Amino acid sequence: MIVMKFGGTSVEDATAIDRIAGIVKGRLAKHPFVVVSAMSKVTDTLLSMAAAAGKGERDKALNLCHQVRERHFNTAGELLGTGLFTELHSELHSEFDSLEQLLRGISAVGELTPRTSDYVVSFGERLSSIIIAAAFVARDVPATLLDARQIIITDGQHGRAIPQVDEINHLLQLHAKPLIDGGRVPVMGGFIGSTREGITTTIGRGGSDFSAALAGAGLNAERIEIWTDVDGMKTTDPRICPNAHRIKVISFDEAAELAYFGAKVLHPATVLPAVEKNIPVLVLNSRNPENEGTRIVARTPQKSKSLFKAIAAKQRITIIEIVAARMLMAHGFLAAVFEIFERHRCAVDIVSTSEVSISVTVDSNEAIPAIAADLEKLAYVKFSGRQAIICLVGESIRERPGVAAQVFDAVKDINVRMISQGASEINMSFVVEETDVPAAIQRLHARFFSEVDPEVFD
Ligand code: ADP
Ligand code: ASP
Ligand code: MG
Repeated sequence: MIVMKFGGTSVEDATAIDRIAGIVKGRLAKHPFVVVSAMSKVTDTLLSMAAAAGKGERDKALNLCHQVRERHFNTAGELLGTGLFTELHSELHSEFDSLEQLLRGISAVGELTPRTSDYVVSFGERLSSIIIAAAFVARDVPATLLDARQIIITDGQHGRAIPQVDEINHLLQLHAKPLIDGGRVPVMGGFIGSTREGITTTIGRGGSDFSAALAGAGLNAERIEIWTDVDGMKTTDPRICPNAHRIKVISFDEAAELAYFGAKVLHPATVLPAVEKNIPVLVLNSRNPENEGTRIVARTPQKSKSLFKAIAAKQRITIIEIVAARMLMAHGFLAAVFEIFERHRCAVDIVSTSEVSISVTVDSNEAIPAIAADLEKLAYVKFSGRQAIICLVGESIRERPGVAAQVFDAVKDINVRMISQGASEINMSFVVEETDVPAAIQRLHARFFSEVDPEVFD
């Protein structure tokens, strides 16, 4: 069997859903399990309406909800014949009515908890999966809707809940396997899950890829297909460099580094469950299904003649400079500093130290005021926001001399704040101002990807 995951842009409207029904139909012989995202931008809109309700802005929240309702009804209407649409009509209305009621409740209290936020945001994938499963049936794809909350069991950390793999595997065998064996095509919303107690959770933005990888690992899939709106992973973000090349094959390690450092096309955690089982992941284009896309494999078969595989940028980074005035890097100082980040569950990306100071970069800006309050008890602290990490990835940099010189020569007129190489053998990163990202990436891309190895890129 295979897992096919369709991202927001691949299910953005009736035309897109009709297209993916055709793609799934063409693979019925492979016994697909389908994972779908919310329609594009819907997750963002749900988050905005939840935030508005949390501030007591009831009318704003209800207005946004109304727009989302219209969009889903229009899409369902276009996709389904009168009979099926009538069947679905009351189900969709009752989902939207309960969402509306919830928003009224949140507005009345004027408080949004992470638990309620997850519940609001879960409507995106719940609604898209209901409509898509029905559209598949109308197109002779024998789909059966699976509620992700009966399969993807997580812990209770709302917003980034951690999937409980053993339970998930058991539930996949119990609920999904018999459907697949019986010739059905399960359709499950990505990104959402539930605690053992039945409370709805979400597993982090972009998490539908993760759901797909969990399904693939739990069902021993032959491969996992991530369908998106570009021809696979590119040498850099095609919005910054339209001439970025398609990467034909990339290793799991390289893909994970790139995903972590902002190559939005793939969720970082995706690669984990798949790599453990050696399941190949393919990134494919639902608007251009004939293209071979990118194949992510455990190890790249051949060494690339090109130095790097790709360049990514992670934006909205803050540099925190911590100057140890009193403790002068005394024994235990680093531990005390990192304990603070740990306590606030804030991941640190790049670290550099001098005798009296530590600089770190973090990306969870909401946690910064609380972290600052704690750090200031230990040291002088300075923040610089609106920074970005530029990250170059490639297995070939391990044994090549002079890499750093070439990189920094390409961006010599751009101010570089922090540098990191060697933490991972295949990644080299540095920090620049956010506004310098396009220039830095375009220069690096021109320097390293003007002549590429045709075995790896096209
Ligand atoms: P989906 O809705 O399918 O999940 P995403 O928006 O999450 O799609 O990811 C696809 C987008 O990622 C592409 O449209 C592209 O603009 C962006 N992207 C950023 N970096 C890369 C890269 N290196 N290769 C391909 N796409 C990239
Ligand atoms: N809909 C969710 C998001 O936008 C999950 C996903 O699409 O992967 O983050
Ligand atoms: Mg995505």
